[in-house]
Amino acid sequence: MTNNALLNMTGLPPFSKIDPSDVVPAMDQILTESRDQVKRLLDEAVTYNWDNLVMPLELIEERISRIWSPVSHMNSVINSDDLREAYNACLPKLSEYSTEMGQNQKLFNAFKQIAQSDEFLLLNEGQKKIINNAIRDFRLSGVELANEEQARYKDIMQQLSRLTSQYEQNLLDATNDWKKEIHDKSLLNGLPESSKGLAKQMAENEKKDGWLLSLEFPSYYPVMLYADNRALREEMHKAYSTRASDQGSNRDWDNSPLMDEILALRHEAANLLGFKNYAERSLATKMAANTEQVLGFLNELVEKSLPVAKKEYAELQAFAKKEYGVSDLEAWDVPYFSEKLREHTYAISQEEIKPYFPENNVLDGLFSVVNRLYGLQISELNNIDTWHKDVRFFEIRDEHNELRGQFFLDLYARQNKRGGAWMDDCLTRLVVDDQVQAPVAYLTCNFSPPIGDAPALFTHTEVITMFHEFGHGLHHMLTKIDYPSVSGISGVPWDAVELPSQFMENWCWEKSALDNMAKHYETGEPLPDALYNKMMAAKNFQAGMQMVRQLEFSIFDFRIHVEFDKAVYENGKGARIYEILNQVRDKVAVVKAPEFNRFAHGFSHIFAGGYAAGYYSYKWAEVLSADAFSLFEEEGVFDQSAGKRFLENILEKGGSKEPMELFKAFRGREPKIDALLRHSGIA
Ligand code: ZN
Repeated sequence: MTNNALLNMTGLPPFSKIDPSDVVPAMDQILTESRDQVKRLLDEAVTYNWDNLVMPLELIEERISRIWSPVSHMNSVINSDDLREAYNACLPKLSEYSTEMGQNQKLFNAFKQIAQSDEFLLLNEGQKKIINNAIRDFRLSGVELANEEQARYKDIMQQLSRLTSQYEQNLLDATNDWKKEIHDKSLLNGLPESSKGLAKQMAENEKKDGWLLSLEFPSYYPVMLYADNRALREEMHKAYSTRASDQGSNRDWDNSPLMDEILALRHEAANLLGFKNYAERSLATKMAANTEQVLGFLNELVEKSLPVAKKEYAELQAFAKKEYGVSDLEAWDVPYFSEKLREHTYAISQEEIKPYFPENNVLDGLFSVVNRLYGLQISELNNIDTWHKDVRFFEIRDEHNELRGQFFLDLYARQNKRGGAWMDDCLTRLVVDDQVQAPVAYLTCNFSPPIGDAPALFTHTEVITMFHEFGHGLHHMLTKIDYPSVSGISGVPWDAVELPSQFMENWCWEKSALDNMAKHYETGEPLPDALYNKMMAAKNFQAGMQMVRQLEFSIFDFRIHVEFDKAVYENGKGARIYEILNQVRDKVAVVKAPEFNRFAHGFSHIFAGGYAAGYYSYKWAEVLSADAFSLFEEEGVFDQSAGKRFLENILEKGGSKEPMELFKAFRGREPKIDALLRHSGIA
């Protein structure tokens, strides 16, 4: 026994006993032991099988993530210098370990041997999936390539990592470089007080008089929405949409050559692995079957939503002309007049709504939805060791009183906590010798804490966020798959992982669900119908315009990866990025982009992030979740047999089967786009 709390863990992490000084020694020890164990497994057996290789590997990986999970979680929610330093010191160790495993030729051969053995046919679906996924991932890491090609592949990966981080750096430098000092306060007319306050504070931070605007989103975006001064909007729009480009203020940060090179290297890497292009490579780990299916899907959405988007845009033009005498809407006018039109048509103040959504009512309402759909009981447990006094802990039991999962709930924003909302796994379901380890989740949000004696009050958007993250949580906690790498959300493809979360959001709009939870915290009065009707009416404001904008990004991202042409590139004509973007815009966009617009130079999701040839996933998952909910619209929003089908075919199955098969088993057919269009008011 050591004194290191991370190495003595059984069950839930002992948060109060974990010291930052424990982290590096614990990870060093666990990674060394894991390496030894893998080596021993490979050396000891002659013929590999599930019991002597795959299951032991599952346990080795599970042990690493069980120890790393509280460290990485605490780094996000109670950050400190010591913890961050320890966390950062471990990142390269972990990535080195996983690269080593991913390139382990002997391990790859062992998996192939099992896949070809007679025993393989006797394994269950989850077990087969683990083996097939492993072989796929080995191949995608280039392990099967001949020596020379493998060296080139590694070289490409290193170059890509350098180029994409340079892209991001240029964008950051260009964003930080632009500032505008304001001395005449009337220039800021229209901005909310909070934005003016931010501008004042930014000026003070730089020891300047007046106000300071920047291209960071919290400064930039309110100007686009609210600033009455058209010239100011134009100036900032231009600065923002030309960042890190040939049109920008400083050519040193021009991303143009990097973007061409990134696309060329991705294409070459995909070719080495035997794919026609990088989009095919991207789909190798996703739900979508092939590139034609993705483009067909996106184009079908365009066809249906473009007429609606055009109509909405015409309404906006008419409104700007009639109310403001502006007849030539430019890109920098669209958000501004849209906001005016929204206020004009659907004025709702969040302050009016919040008193109806006190914390405990929202939680009770959420738990009652889950109870009515799946027959689950959720109750709070006290005296659990957590990382902060505001954190609550709950357990989920099913109709047979079987413990299905537990979760930590950390709702409020505070210092040293990363922003946003997310679900993460603390423990994953695992069965060893008939002993079940129940899954445990972290549900983290950044809502306003209670003020004075009042309970915490949530906006409707926050309620939706809560349901969304809880949907991820249910996917993780209700799994019945016994092996960590395909249980819960593990091994679920990227374009399918948002299905259970977006699916849960639907109940936030259902009157019968709201009646249960939306009650005034002082009077107990239910949410007034007039307010509910306004919320519903505002829900789909400019849904068509938003849809075609997302489709423009998705189709652009996909086409530049599908249509990359090596011969054209080698002729010095680049990757045709803007040629393709302009074609897409001609077909899809309703708001005309100015000539100077260099959107792609700042599209870091696909040039620097993980969304390359994958941006379509957002829409894809929305189709799945809307279509899944449509079964409940047909059968009743609390229909238990529909709930049972969703539970048994989706939530319990995790990544153990292809998501298309799971979806078909649940819905009785392949997904259709109709429900999404109807829910967005587009159909
Ligand atoms: Zn999500």
